[in-house]
Amino acid sequence: MTKRSSAVAKAPVERPDSDCPACGATMAPKRGRLALVVNGEKVQVPSAAHLRCPKCQEIVLRFEDARRLSADAVEIYRKKHGLLSADEIRAIRERHRLTQAAFARLLRLGPNTLSRWESGRNAQTEAMDTLLRVIRDLPGTMEYLREHAA
Ligand SMILES: [Zn+2]
Repeated sequence: MTKRSSAVAKAPVERPDSDCPACGATMAPKRGRLALVVNGEKVQVPSAAHLRCPKCQEIVLRFEDARRLSADAVEIYRKKHGLLSADEIRAIRERHRLTQAAFARLLRLGPNTLSRWESGRNAQTEAMDTLLRVIRDLPGTMEYLREHAA
């Protein structure tokens, strides 16, 4: 939310969400190329749904647009770098009967990181992807991590 300095005791104006926040014109639903940063890299998402102002070209993402854009960008990023999918990461964790929190501790990740990977809200880095593949493909790796986890 932007703070307007000169507003004096005015009730907030209820705008329909199709009004342009910049100029007030009625925005139109469009599809087009939008970019989003994933792990520090700009990812282009073709045909992303959004609202665009016909007057000033302002772009607004509805809640669902933003969720979709983020999920698509993460999927494109994973494909581009040849990373494990969300389901493949979940399968590795479940094979070892670990909760997301327990697996995150072994990998020394933040508590929400795995849930973001498994729901497609974020992608693992290539370095973490390599570690996940080692856990998946080399027997004994999980035991090693358990012995050496902080
Ligand atoms: Zn506008």
